[in-house]
Amino acid sequence: MKLFEYMGKELFKKMNITVPAGQVFQSDEGVEKFVANTGEVVIKSQILSGGRGKAGGIKFATSPDVAKMAVNELLQSKVKDCPVQAVLVEEKINIDKEIYLAITVDGSIKRPVVIASSSGGVDIEEVPEDKIIKIPVDVHSGVQPFLAREVARQLLLQGDHFKQFVNLLVNMYKLFKKYDCELVEINPLVISGDKLLAADAKVTVDDEAAFRYPADLPVIDERTEREKKAHQLGISYVELEGEIGVMANGAGITMATLDIINHYGGTPRNFMDAGGGASTEATAKALEILLSTNPKVILANIFGGITRCDDVANAFAQVQEKLGIPVPLVIRLVGTNEEDGVRILKGQGIESFRTVDEAVAKAVELLASSEGSGE
Ligand code: GDP
Ligand code: MN
Repeated sequence: MKLFEYMGKELFKKMNITVPAGQVFQSDEGVEKFVANTGEVVIKSQILSGGRGKAGGIKFATSPDVAKMAVNELLQSKVKDCPVQAVLVEEKINIDKEIYLAITVDGSIKRPVVIASSSGGVDIEEVPEDKIIKIPVDVHSGVQPFLAREVARQLLLQGDHFKQFVNLLVNMYKLFKKYDCELVEINPLVISGDKLLAADAKVTVDDEAAFRYPADLPVIDERTEREKKAHQLGISYVELEGEIGVMANGAGITMATLDIINHYGGTPRNFMDAGGGASTEATAKALEILLSTNPKVILANIFGGITRCDDVANAFAQVQEKLGIPVPLVIRLVGTNEEDGVRILKGQGIESFRTVDEAVAKAVELLASSEGSGE
């Protein structure tokens, strides 16, 4: 789960990491007053992706009325395709230097790693490898001051900045650990006069740790109502933007199905892993969710291992009888109890295929003809 910048900065404050003075707004109410008291400000759209600066999601203002206009403009706009629902208005910092600093997990060495660079402010992907400092962290000792001092030395920090940096990095690791983070990134970490400030905050927490999130961690649920309903039924389901409703029985086979749809020139409307070994009832519910998205074509890719083809076929037959399936349906059905499954479907006038290629090609063909008919 990604946190909005302002949420990350709330956590920073709790861990004694200095951030610019700021306030979150969801409307322009109170903006003028805040800016009148603050002076020059930065107005930052709160969306869950980076690169806002380049995308026009960050504005500067020197007066309350200009700030108010900028806030309204951002709140009515989309930045990087995300509608802006909140802005963070902060005192504008005079930047002497921008540093990149992050803690993340390096899967290849199975350890957290501190990543830093004195070329901050830009995407770390654009920084040449030899300008990036990478130091693995032993999880038993965590980030001790000696490790933080090593990073500060390599960043060529001096005097007070050096000391502040050491505290900051030690605290940043405490935050990383406490909230089970996958990433804590400060880009830029700003040197402004004698101060060191986190001007940006990107915090991603590990979804697998949800059962033990500390109570003060804000929870962002970006799922749609349909996604929530599916998850309650134990179905992995994510909505996408395409045309073909997809159901398969397993995460891997579902992902492969999406790839093959793309390969044949179609677009998936969703990811749906109805689960291995799903019962007739569960499969029928999954199909009902798919139908509610009004896809142009439905494609089911069932490889019966623990899943039984007759159970799946019965689910389709049930929904067909109960609700009717108003869109073309393509099923690839092989494996356990295949003959029974194929026979049940045939009884409903539903043809099934043995190979994924045949089924996907057929689904894409049906999609093209449904679009050709002007629907
Ligand atoms: P991002 O583009 O989504 O990563 O958003 P950032 O918060 O990192 O802001 C992008 C850039 O805007 C920074 O690298 C700075 O150059 C600039 N910026 C952000 N806040 C301030 C500020 O308080 N003062 C100044 N002078 N520049 C800022
Ligand atoms: Mn940034």
